[in-house]
Amino acid sequence: MEIIKTIKQMQSYSREQQRLGKTIGLVPTMGYLHEGHIELVKAARKENDIVIVSIFVNPIQFGVGEDFDIYPRDLKRDSQLLEKENVDVIFNPEGEEMYPAGYNTFVEVSGEITTKLCGASRPGHFRGVTTVVSKLFNTCLPDKAYFGQKDAQQVMVIEKMVKELNFPLTIVRVPIIREKDGLAMSSRNTYLSDELRKEALLLNQSLIKGKQAIENGEKDVEKVKKLIQDYIKTSPNANIDYVEILSGEDLSDLSDLSELKGKILIALAVKFGNTRLIDNQLVEV
Ligand code: AMP
Repeated sequence: MEIIKTIKQMQSYSREQQRLGKTIGLVPTMGYLHEGHIELVKAARKENDIVIVSIFVNPIQFGVGEDFDIYPRDLKRDSQLLEKENVDVIFNPEGEEMYPAGYNTFVEVSGEITTKLCGASRPGHFRGVTTVVSKLFNTCLPDKAYFGQKDAQQVMVIEKMVKELNFPLTIVRVPIIREKDGLAMSSRNTYLSDELRKEALLLNQSLIKGKQAIENGEKDVEKVKKLIQDYIKTSPNANIDYVEILSGEDLSDLSDLSELKGKILIALAVKFGNTRLIDNQLVEV
């Protein structure tokens, strides 16, 4: 396994693989890997000749006062995990390599898909994500790129960007990987004290309650939202950022579920102390 730090070297590696007729799978990450990330890597390993995992904590997707400076980083541990999965290359550029002085080009998907949910609470976040993902695509030249359903809005935004900017690659979605007790895996779970981690189990539990209510025929979106909110509020330290029930196709509003056929996304973001966690469930009706 190679660790490549520069864009030029990464591009020439990928060009050479393309010349040899090899397919390339890319797994973009911010590192501090867990089993959720590894599931993406395994999917990429099955479907491609070459697997590249990028590890880059992207400064421009963090807002002022967010956790960029303290975001956990451990390249040595990540390398050991990826070596075991037979990854070919880790692409691990420095900040200045991706955004040299004077850098001023950004990629932005407009509209509801980026202004709702995390877009509302984290202004500029998705612009940072789509910019870095575009740069990673132009650097690693993948045939397929793997993203987790854990960040449901993120993968929808990226799919739209790929379609509308005609990136010549396929996006593969990987389902949410959870701890045995149901907590969605996240690098940010390491911020939680034992007490807060226990309280955070309410997130998945409340989503399951919401999903069951819809599956049992509840048509009133507000009632389902309230059921979820009330359940989360039983935790003394939970601070709800949002609980939303939207179209799983394009994040459009749903007031009444009676006419609906297709996917419904139940998405939430909740702060426990300073730690903001997100989770979601897709419901097919
Ligand atoms: P991150 O390092 O948090 O930027 O995540 C990198 C990729 O891993 C993103 O596509 C995430 O959606 C995905 N991911 C993170 N946690 C999980 C999880 N628990 N299950 C599935 N995918 C995940």
